[in-house]
Amino acid sequence: MYEYDDYYEDYGPSDELSQQIHQMIENEARAKITSTFTELEQVRKTNEELRKQIHEMRNQIRTFDDRVKKERKQAEEAIKRGFFDGYICGDKVFVAYSKYRREACATCSGAAKVTALIGNAEMQIKCPECDGTGGKHKYDYEPLEDHIETVTVELNDRGGKFVNAYLKKKESKVEYERIFPTLEECQAYCDEKNSESKER
Ligand SMILES: [Zn+2]
Repeated sequence: MYEYDDYYEDYGPSDELSQQIHQMIENEARAKITSTFTELEQVRKTNEELRKQIHEMRNQIRTFDDRVKKERKQAEEAIKRGFFDGYICGDKVFVAYSKYRREACATCSGAAKVTALIGNAEMQIKCPECDGTGGKHKYDYEPLEDHIETVTVELNDRGGKFVNAYLKKKESKVEYERIFPTLEECQAYCDEKNSESKER
């Protein structure tokens, strides 16, 4: 029994110490884990922030690239328009389209002859109004929507420059003076042309 008691007396304080050590280790470990966790959380936040920044920068680069492309295209277009005197292929335009029409003479109704009383006799004479042609050649102008398909530039050694356009709906080339960017401008030109031909 003596040995037994002795053993317990020895065991008491050493058990307490062991518990204290255990507690210290545990506290230390907890502190370490908490600190590591906090660090990890911080790294995660930084990472997320950087990811956002990268995303934002990529967007900025893309926007910048798009702007450069757009501005380059505009600059190229401006140079082309300058060289081709305003129009480039693919432009929607309005062309003053002229349609030939033969208008019968109002005096002879297209017969080319009129009845005249010469002395007491009725005679058929050449219509003085149309000079025996029976009518007049007329061109009626009207706007036609079209697209520029080809633009050609001819340069000569005397510094001359001739620009012509070929449109989708017309086979032959069209002079620039008959091409307009808007319907209103084309209509005004047609009206002017049509009133000129009425006066003649
Ligand atoms: Zn006539």
